[in-house]
Amino acid sequence: MERVPSLIVLNLTSDCNLRCKYCYASAGTFKEYMTSECAIEIIRQVAKYNNTIELLFHGGEPLLVFDVIKEVIDYCKNNLKSKEIRYYIQTNGVLLTAEKAKYLIDENVEICLSIDGHTETSNQCRIYPAGQSSLKMLKNRIDLLKSMNYNTTVLAVLNKKNKNEIEDFIDFLINNKIFNFSLNYFIKGGRGNENSDLALSPVELYEVTKNVISKILSYHEKNIKVVERNISHLLRNIFTEKKGYMCMNSPCGAGNHLLGYTPNGDIYPCDDLSSVEQFKIGNIFDGDIKDILKDNDVINFFNYCSYENIPKCCDCKIKNKCGAGCASRKFYENGTIYEVDPICEFYKLIVPYIENLMIENPSIKELV
Ligand code: SF4
Ligand code: SF4
Repeated sequence: MERVPSLIVLNLTSDCNLRCKYCYASAGTFKEYMTSECAIEIIRQVAKYNNTIELLFHGGEPLLVFDVIKEVIDYCKNNLKSKEIRYYIQTNGVLLTAEKAKYLIDENVEICLSIDGHTETSNQCRIYPAGQSSLKMLKNRIDLLKSMNYNTTVLAVLNKKNKNEIEDFIDFLINNKIFNFSLNYFIKGGRGNENSDLALSPVELYEVTKNVISKILSYHEKNIKVVERNISHLLRNIFTEKKGYMCMNSPCGAGNHLLGYTPNGDIYPCDDLSSVEQFKIGNIFDGDIKDILKDNDVINFFNYCSYENIPKCCDCKIKNKCGAGCASRKFYENGTIYEVDPICEFYKLIVPYIENLMIENPSIKELV
């Protein structure tokens, strides 16, 4: 491999102060923490080969190691002045005080808050270790960010508990000036495997997605631009030749556009797969990252996984549009990435639905 992926997903810790029922990383079960030396070594090496870097602070819960985040940003400001670095953080909000929020906003770290819904029913998968609700805390964090005039983004995981309230949840987000959010699909890894009955079936996902499209279109008719990122990526794949988003490409971004790094510096093709030992590429302290990636079997295995090489996908009429799905979802469902995506049937329903909708309502293209 000649290129060193420029999207760095730093799993700063495997620890977490919540125990979300679908967490594919089973965060909180283990308590490893990345040192600033390790984080800086990763960035130093990736920056040797890239002028533009995207750096996502992830976990577990990354705010548990806030000092490491600060040291990393200091390092980048002092040592990588010629590089363009975009920072992101995915947080459950528990430790997001006004002081930390101000720091992140001042340093241009894009904050994405994880919340599944605006009611106890819809947010019930996101709980503290003893089982209490996190909803009051999350609403408080939304109020905090709104009071700072910061338009946070939000990530929710679609599941059986929030599927009936998603449209009201979107109203709640818009009322709180949150116009950009992701309604992510369930991954059956870790606690997501233990609680796989929470996953939506492909048909349920199709019904929810139709309602979400209709809701977002109703806002667009009022000149309020709302972006649900998964729908936006799917529309781009359907309507344009620009296969912009790594997870909708074939092969996907794993090991190609991004690498996930565990707290001890182990390197994986995607952070969603970073507890799967067989996909370990190496460790950041093994040597130069370019040498680690060169002719690496795991990288080659993922790069070969395009739809032409997946027997059940190669003749599919919509393979260009679904991109043959997510390697991680496929692995956790089937034990192999060379299979169809567990939500394959959803794609087979939603793609023609969107194409037909486009004939009746061309403004759907504006949701891209
Ligand atoms: S819709 Fe299903 S069969 Fe077709 S390319 Fe996607 S995952 Fe493969
Ligand atoms: S494995 Fe899934 S989440 Fe990871 S880059 Fe591929 S499509 Fe995206």
